[in-house]
Amino acid sequence: MSARPSSADRQESPDIERLAAELVAVAKKLVARDLVAGPGGNLSAIAGSLMLISPSGAALDELAPESLVRVRLDSGRVDGRGRPSSEWAMHLACYRTRPDVTAVVHTHPPVTIGVISTGSRIEAMFPDFAVLLPEVRVLEYILPTTDALAQAVAAEIRTAEAVLLRNHGVVTVGRTLREAFYRSELVEASARILVAARTVGTPRILTPAEIAEIRGLESEQYRIRHVAGGDGPSVADARPGRVEAPDGR
Ligand SMILES: [Zn+2]
Repeated sequence: MSARPSSADRQESPDIERLAAELVAVAKKLVARDLVAGPGGNLSAIAGSLMLISPSGAALDELAPESLVRVRLDSGRVDGRGRPSSEWAMHLACYRTRPDVTAVVHTHPPVTIGVISTGSRIEAMFPDFAVLLPEVRVLEYILPTTDALAQAVAAEIRTAEAVLLRNHGVVTVGRTLREAFYRSELVEASARILVAARTVGTPRILTPAEIAEIRGLESEQYRIRHVAGGDGPSVADARPGRVEAPDGR
């Protein structure tokens, strides 16, 4: 990226009711697309000084706007009532480390979990991945809901858009909730493509030159700005799309 993101990069804060409705709609989509199962997964977005997050133990397709929990970004304290998702510290750590991020989505996508559990990498095999996921990292297994996981994810999110948690799931961030959601969808789509490819033969990965060429297309730059809901950093600033295996392979 050309410059370190700052809070000035965050999009205008939507009003909290509209944001709550949007979170509920995206939560239902996460279930509909098989990105979570049962009461797994959680998501959040920020409005001003508040993080709005799914409640602990909730099935994401049963959320109501009023069930979302408000957490203060500065203190981490609940503002109002409810118990936030057990991964609330991970969400908060992402916002504190990436001032340009306004939404965090955490899923348990089955194909991705299966693929990364083997140590396999998920790499750019189609244009959307190259554009929307310039940097994806993998973390070795860390006990869920712990501060250790929150800090490890935040350290990667400083310079990445998605973190794959081995034997656990995926965390994506976005300048908008829509962008974070699309990134979650794309990671799982890529894992499915990889499985399909390996069933038939050896997948061909896009080369760094092809990735740079895709990102240079004017049509892709328009699309990425549209997904982010306004003026985001140019995709020309994006880094090469590659997933590092945990052991560096
Ligand atoms: Zn989880």
